[in-house]
Amino acid sequence: MHQIENFINGSFLPASSGVRFDKRSPVDNSVIASIAEATRADVDAAVKAARAALHGEWGSLSQDQRVELLYGVADEITRRFDDFVAAEMEDTGQPEHVMKHVFIPRGAANFKVFADVIKNVPTESFMLDTPDGRGALNYALRVPKGVIGVISPWNAPFLLMTWKVGPALACGNTVVLKPSEETPFTAALLGEVMNKVGIPKGVYNVVNGFGPASAGEFVTQHQGVDAITFTGETSTGTAIMKAAAEGTRDVSFEMGGKNAGIVFADADFDDAVNGIFRSAFLNTGQVCLGTERVYVERPVFDQFVAALKEKAEAVQFGRPEINGNNYGPLISREHQHKVLSYYQKAVAEGATVVTGGGVPEMPADLAEGNWVQPTIWTGLPETASVVREEIFGPCCHISPFDSEDEVVAKANDNEYGLSTTLWTTNLTRAHRMAGRIDVGITWINSWFLRDLRTAFGGSKQSGIGREGGVHSLEFYTELRNVCIKL
Ligand code: NAD
Repeated sequence: MHQIENFINGSFLPASSGVRFDKRSPVDNSVIASIAEATRADVDAAVKAARAALHGEWGSLSQDQRVELLYGVADEITRRFDDFVAAEMEDTGQPEHVMKHVFIPRGAANFKVFADVIKNVPTESFMLDTPDGRGALNYALRVPKGVIGVISPWNAPFLLMTWKVGPALACGNTVVLKPSEETPFTAALLGEVMNKVGIPKGVYNVVNGFGPASAGEFVTQHQGVDAITFTGETSTGTAIMKAAAEGTRDVSFEMGGKNAGIVFADADFDDAVNGIFRSAFLNTGQVCLGTERVYVERPVFDQFVAALKEKAEAVQFGRPEINGNNYGPLISREHQHKVLSYYQKAVAEGATVVTGGGVPEMPADLAEGNWVQPTIWTGLPETASVVREEIFGPCCHISPFDSEDEVVAKANDNEYGLSTTLWTTNLTRAHRMAGRIDVGITWINSWFLRDLRTAFGGSKQSGIGREGGVHSLEFYTELRNVCIKL
């Protein structure tokens, strides 16, 4: 049984109220940790520590010194790789190979990449003509924004919070992080790393708790927080935006998706099946970029549905640490109920259930876990709720299409606009379609292939702003223009 405390001003502290909450294992719902729930006073202490660090040792470091420290953070994460893998695996129940090959290495990379970006991206400079002929020189200084509130979700906890903490610190800010109440382990472990590497006290703070009337809201309402970066549901983003309006503070939002996967008959068939399988079912479908709507060109529709069904039925459920198990549970009982309610709704709406639709039979020791079957439907109209709403589970609806215009219109007919995966060997068409689909990210013949220097974010209700590479600098810094009369 783990004891997870808040991490404030370089120290692990229980809540000032003494209040704690339980964290359950997704694989069997046993209680595996007791978490300190931060009070408003604890959040205030974290924000004050973050402010003090800005004006203290951290704020007085040179950029090179800061960058060296962040390289040290990445190296220490790599040195403690097994601890991070074990913590995240226990927290999420997701298989070891996903932790080892995607989530934990990406967490370390988030510190290195943004340390490099801040060193290498120039600011602007303009010469201005003046009536006296002497001219003036303008140049921009990039300065940290201040104390950044980071609100993160549970679906890829370490990757998603370091995606924000890494660039925030690289830019010289300090952070108060509120990790998801479902997955607090790696945020705490990162506190140990910060202390080991010598990151000054108060630069990285973690407050645990829930959203409304709890730590999440206390962070976003706190007027000492200069900007808020958030990943999570669109409805939560709406609440956070209202909080940020007080004090007109800046926001960066990465939110929900109902992403389309499009497969043309000329696609490499096996690649397309494997790609859509990953995009629909990786992490038990709990990926914002995941595909819940699949459109397949009619000549290969039946063949595609059969191939995806075969793969979905071959997954190996079980404990994440056991080699060969490639399929984990959903994060919580509550989320399991939500996903299963959509499974029922699909049937009520008239879907043909190609495979899945329920809970797999599990051995007695795992019977209480949040397991659900990967599920594929066909036969629903575009108006069906499982075709329109984000489910965030391992499921997809597949429908046939006959023309490019038809599939573009269907892909765009949704309130979300996060990502698309498109499978074709006709690259002229691929380029043309990439310009027509209203999303922040289009993958062609691939999915979730991430270059951290590129713009990441969503259109429509999937987000506000872009992060990644220089775009992260735009959010985490302010440009201060200096004009010198010559
Ligand atoms: P969520 O919105 O329920 O919670 C996210 C975080 O917000 C948690 O830390 C939660 O405690 C906090 N929170 C909730 N209400 C709050 C409030 N009123 N004020 C302040 N904080 C509050 O999201 P989730 O269920 O943890 O994550 C799943 C969602 O995240 C899905 O919709 C998914 O699409 C989205 N997501 C998006 C991206 C992206 O990059 N676009 C990436 C991953 C996940």
